[in-house]
Amino acid sequence: MKILKIDHLGIAVNDIDQSRKFWSDVLGLDFEGTETVEEQKVTTAFFPVGESEVELLASTSPDGPVARYIEKRGQGIQHVAFRVENIEQALEELKAKGVRLIDEKPRRGAGGAKIAFIHPKATGGVLVELCER
Ligand code: ZN
Repeated sequence: MKILKIDHLGIAVNDIDQSRKFWSDVLGLDFEGTETVEEQKVTTAFFPVGESEVELLASTSPDGPVARYIEKRGQGIQHVAFRVENIEQALEELKAKGVRLIDEKPRRGAGGAKIAFIHPKATGGVLVELCER
C-alpha cells in the first residue's frame, strides 16, 4: 500500500464550540466549520495545519463511538489517519496479512472521503484510520 502522508489527527471532545477556542483562538488555526456524519453519530471540525489537519470529533448521541471513547478514556487523541492512494487496495493488502480490521470495506467519512479503521488490537493500541480523498 502507498501511504502518502498523515492526513489528520482525530481528537475526541465533549463540545466542539468549547474546544475549538483553543485550536482557533489560541493557536490561530483556521476553522472551516463543522460537518455531521449521521451514520457515525459524530460532528467533526477540521483545522488545516500545513499538509495535515486536526479533526475535532464530538458525539451526536450518548451511544456513539466517540461518546463511548470519552467515557472510557476521556477527551484526547482518538485516532491517527493516514492518507492512502487506493483504500480498497490497502484493505485487501491488510486482509491478506491477517490484520484485524474494524471496516472490511471503506465507508464515507467527513468531506466525502472514503475511510476505514484498523482495529487497535492489531496496531498496539492506536486506532488507525485509512482515508482516500
Ligand atoms: Zn478521522
